[in-house]
Amino acid sequence: MSNTENLSFLTRAIHTGNGIDSETGVIQRPIVLGNSYQLPYDPTDVNWSSTGGNLYTRNGGANQRYLEEKIASLEGGEDAVVLASGVAALSGLFFALLKTGDHVVFSSVTYIASYRLLNELFNNKFGIETTIVDTSDIKNVEAAIKPNTKLIHIETPGNPTLSISDIAAIAEIAHKNNALLSVDNTFASPFNQRPIELGADFSIESLTKYINGHGDAMGGSITGKKEYLNIVRAQSQVNLGGTISPFNAWLIARGAVTLPLRMKQHNENGLKIAQWLKEQPEVSFVAYPGLEDSPNHEIAKKQMSGFGGVLSFGLKADHDTHNQFVSHLKLITSAVSLGHDESLIVFLGEDDERQYLYPEQFHNGFFRLALGIEDTQDLINDLKQAFDKIRK
Ligand SMILES: *Cc1c(COP(=O)(O)O)cnc(C)c1O
Repeated sequence: MSNTENLSFLTRAIHTGNGIDSETGVIQRPIVLGNSYQLPYDPTDVNWSSTGGNLYTRNGGANQRYLEEKIASLEGGEDAVVLASGVAALSGLFFALLKTGDHVVFSSVTYIASYRLLNELFNNKFGIETTIVDTSDIKNVEAAIKPNTKLIHIETPGNPTLSISDIAAIAEIAHKNNALLSVDNTFASPFNQRPIELGADFSIESLTKYINGHGDAMGGSITGKKEYLNIVRAQSQVNLGGTISPFNAWLIARGAVTLPLRMKQHNENGLKIAQWLKEQPEVSFVAYPGLEDSPNHEIAKKQMSGFGGVLSFGLKADHDTHNQFVSHLKLITSAVSLGHDESLIVFLGEDDERQYLYPEQFHNGFFRLALGIEDTQDLINDLKQAFDKIRK
């Protein structure tokens, strides 16, 4: 369908980026796996680094473009670039925007690769200055701004503490200081939160998570203004080469069709299980932005329409009891990642090098529980029988 702008999120998740194939008449976009396209009679004028498509799949492919159309629409942005992973999207944006002498302010709570990229690789290799601050308090962001601040990068909710930063307020600080704001929106998904509509310049997703939703393909996206995304395409896609495979783009576009339906169940499982965990005597804390007494809950309510399926919690127990607890779970699998159809749990031990950046309650080891879309009571029953076993 070509013009889907006036339709609701639910409808656009299905129709935007889909259409009838002109060759076969089939009503689902086919997977286009070929790498190379027929050249014109005289190829002398072809720009081998162009990003318009129909040249070579690293420069852009059909399934990538269909998915980009869907993502841009769901995020409410002018354009989107889809790359091979969430980390390819993060590094691709940073590489395209930043140069030696620029300064970046970024959240103390982020995905580990964002921390490595900004705090170890970009600053050591390219001389880009970085300042890490707790962006859940906007005063810290304001205080960290320098004349050469080019970019503020935040993650909200942040992995793994679920800390919430105020997107609209930080966008205002960025723009007042001629800087840009990028938001890693992976923990919310565009169903629950749309950073561009709140004033951010870029929304980044690991498509690997909620948007694909089935734990079987990797991808990443950057949504924002065309003027910047054209640079990302030319520099980071064509020349760094992080192009998504057509098959993965097709799988993610297929998964994204049910994003709105799946997110409703993730949100319900997140909230109900956060509330249930809080009542267990062995639980030392539960971090979930949907809990009324959670830090910045008012901001979370203002900028999110649901709080997602990921929560963190601690046990009043020693190291080995944490591992025992996980081993007793039958339905919930011990594995990293989130936003899958099935529920996943990971015990994050006590030796995280960034722990000093987290609130004290996270210092003794904790679980990150990424709830899937199973029945809520079945998940509670699984947790309950694991609690019963460590109680014995
Ligand atoms: C998983 C994740 C990423 C990285 O995405 P990949 O697809 O694994 O490269 C980035 N940010 C957040 C918040 C994530 O959870």
